[in-house]
Amino acid sequence: MSEVVRREVPEVDRAAAARRAVERRRARASLKRDLAMRVVSPQDVVARAFEDPDSTAGTLRVPDFLTALPAIGAGKRDRVMTELQISPVKRLGGLGVRQRRALQDWLDARFPVPRPRANRSRLLVLAGPTAVGKGTVAAHIRDHHPEIHLSVSATTRAPRPGEQDGVHYYFVDDAEFDRMIAEGELLEHATVHNRFRYGTPRAPIERALAEGKTVLLEIDLQGARQVRAADPSATLVFLLPPSWDELVHRLIGRGTEDEAERTRRLRTAKVELAAQGEFDHRVVNEDVASAAREVVELTSDSAR
Ligand code: 5GP
Repeated sequence: MSEVVRREVPEVDRAAAARRAVERRRARASLKRDLAMRVVSPQDVVARAFEDPDSTAGTLRVPDFLTALPAIGAGKRDRVMTELQISPVKRLGGLGVRQRRALQDWLDARFPVPRPRANRSRLLVLAGPTAVGKGTVAAHIRDHHPEIHLSVSATTRAPRPGEQDGVHYYFVDDAEFDRMIAEGELLEHATVHNRFRYGTPRAPIERALAEGKTVLLEIDLQGARQVRAADPSATLVFLLPPSWDELVHRLIGRGTEDEAERTRRLRTAKVELAAQGEFDHRVVNEDVASAAREVVELTSDSAR
């Protein structure tokens, strides 16, 4: 009987089913990387799973979900499963109402979701991991929103093809950078990717703020922290990639860095993603125009 059934299933259908199974496994592996790298929050993943049990999130087994979370090993996973009374064969989408509630409560306690703070100033800091597209989103805002002043940083790195001094950066040598620091001309400065120095000139920002403009800084995590320390009312926005795989793809696709530099930048990206909880807002850069719109909307009075 089983022989007959097998012969009746056309070869192409079986091949297509096998392909689909491989794709789903790949999608789940990719989602686990997103969780590990904090590109998505665990709460977002369970929300997706509960909404659609057939989705990638919904078909993820609970133990696999838990061990994908930062700093959760096999021992902790087993203790949590027992505590929440969830069987190891369960998938996220297959949890009952009480188990869903228990898992959500545990996640909220273990991975608290930061709340935006009130009374923000017009100083907006855009940070995020390398290659996420901060520069492109910032340039889009500069080109479409003349009312927003985009800060031009000083850097000791050499210009890339097409980059203009005074537009993309002020390209300076080490001596000039040292002088700017010594004279107090920089609001913040940092060595990025352990290589070149970058800093935000203070005077143009103070001028723009005095004119009532919103000022946008596109800087790295260390710079964002320094700005917050200097002006606690600054609004910090964290730009996220749609997925970790997409971030790696964008970094390789850009083709401007060699292998060693890419490895260094991915390491930095992982550390930067882990700091997103310090930020007031998170924006996913799925496409540049929508991400730019979301950032600009944060500068409107209602959002502050
Ligand atoms: P890139 O060399 O690719 O233009 O920029 C490398 C990194 O330096 C990016 O993450 C960018 O956000 C950061 N960066 C650019 N300007 C500044 C700055 O003025 N201060 C700080 N702290 N980081 C900056």
